[in-house]
Amino acid sequence: MSTIELRGITKTFGAFVAVQDADLSVAAGEVVCLLGPSGCGKTTTLRIIAGLERATAGDIVIAGRRMNGLPPQERNIAMVFQFYALYPALTVGENIAMPLHHQSIGKAEIAAQVGKVADILHLRDILDRMPGQISEGEKQRVAVARAIVRDPNCFLFDEPLSRLDVELRHTMRSQIKAVLSNLSRATVIVTHDQLEALSMADRIAIMRDGRIEQVGSPHEVFARPANVFVASFIGTPQMNLIEAEFKGYGDGKATVTFDRQDVNLPAAPAVAALAPGRVTVGVRPRAFTVVAEDAADTIDAVTELIEPMGAETLIHARTRTGGDIRVVIPRDKKVKIGEPLHLIPDPMQTHIFAADGKAVRA
Ligand code: ATP
Repeated sequence: MSTIELRGITKTFGAFVAVQDADLSVAAGEVVCLLGPSGCGKTTTLRIIAGLERATAGDIVIAGRRMNGLPPQERNIAMVFQFYALYPALTVGENIAMPLHHQSIGKAEIAAQVGKVADILHLRDILDRMPGQISEGEKQRVAVARAIVRDPNCFLFDEPLSRLDVELRHTMRSQIKAVLSNLSRATVIVTHDQLEALSMADRIAIMRDGRIEQVGSPHEVFARPANVFVASFIGTPQMNLIEAEFKGYGDGKATVTFDRQDVNLPAAPAVAALAPGRVTVGVRPRAFTVVAEDAADTIDAVTELIEPMGAETLIHARTRTGGDIRVVIPRDKKVKIGEPLHLIPDPMQTHIFAADGKAVRA
């Protein structure tokens, strides 16, 4: 079975810890994206899987076999890098066939395999062209074709689309995803682009400072972030993270002091176990209902800036004590700068994070 497993992987460079105690399993046919800010250890993790970097501690198991210490060529892995280099003096077809020349198979068989992947990636009509005569998107597809042609155990992609323009990236995401979903191989994709991860991954592993903070489906990491970091990293515009003082819990609601007033917010029963003290309340900008009147338990702010975003409008509002709140409303709902906003957070989308940053939920 094509699977990838990382067990307790740590990588240090001198005193610097680039990856810390990472556990991850990728099933056959599954696409997992490593997502996180620059320098969080994504590429190092991928290079360890590929055998380009040696882990300081932990095990790498691919297709059931422990790979520690094995060189890349013995791992039967295909890698697609951000800077995929095609051989300029060879045709597209010859470029795709390159990995097959190391295997003892005849010309007819090579042509058949190249033809097969060319069909999958819609490259049949350009097999005789030179790399200088094809577009960036086609070059990227050739790089993917070259990776899949020899039927490896698994695929590793490092920022595969970052050189393409926005529109092409969009098309390529769905094309690569469609190709991968038919190949039943474990795939790991490194990206710092959350849209890429949300659209291509079956599961996302979110990394920070060398640690995997949460692994979950795109929906899980968006709707049930494990901590403040994941909550702030996933979702655009960013989730509002409001510092508040937790006072107590009753009737399914947490009483918090925020902006010099007590507000009762819907919260999971687990919140009852929290000691009074500082918490962070997380509400996504699209998770507010705007009401006309100041009422009990509304969050109140004044509209400061209005940003049209096509079908929706992003409002930046300021609370009494100077906090910034982002609210997204439909375009046809009118607001004016300087106008008060009374906001009711959606009970199903209100997150409470304890002082250590961890989400508190049932
Ligand atoms: P980016 O998105 O910017 O590519 P990344 O998440 O892929 O970042 P890595 O390339 O894995 O990050 O690097 C993780 C950390 O390890 C960084 O701080 C980097 O400077 C450091 N690092 C990587 N390779 C080495 C090395 N060979 N020697 C020393 N430090 C290294």
